[in-house]
Amino acid sequence: MSKIAIFPGSFAPFSVGHQSIVDRTLPLFDKIVIAIGINSEKNQYFSIEERLEWIKAVYGKNSKIEVKRYEGLTVDFCKKEKANYILRGLRDSHDFKFEKNIAQMNKELNTSIETIFIITPPELSHISSSIIRDIIKNGGDVKKFVPKEIDL
Ligand code: ADP
Repeated sequence: MSKIAIFPGSFAPFSVGHQSIVDRTLPLFDKIVIAIGINSEKNQYFSIEERLEWIKAVYGKNSKIEVKRYEGLTVDFCKKEKANYILRGLRDSHDFKFEKNIAQMNKELNTSIETIFIITPPELSHISSSIIRDIIKNGGDVKKFVPKEIDL
């Protein structure tokens, strides 16, 4: 059975923090599906199409990585993709508190799916999509916070 993981998120925009999670966990899986959730209300700043294109620009040439959008429960999307793993990144205790509850809830919803957490490297732990958006709104340069393939 091939090992497939979903990396769900808003990715608004996809950052070098997200990239680090994908790059470091890729050796563990046969395939990672980077999945942009479209039911969250918090990210209207960039369109889904824009976010898909950016991630495809970063990983388009990698046959082990797919980029998709999804609606509804993450565990249902996992089932659809035949994925038994959900990937999430942890920056600090705030992330842990939030992620712990979601992971435990997802486990109750579907016991065959494991959430795998990966700790961010210290030099990336201050990077968040919301701060990147704030910098953009205020005319700042965000080049070093996003992969080089993303023209922001
Ligand atoms: P969501 O809206 O689901 O929180 P995000 O796009 O903000 O989605 O983040 C997706 C995942 O990436 C989350 O697990 C988040 O904790 C993680 N993440 C975001 N930024 C970083 C970073 N700089 N280092 C490590 N993990 C990160």
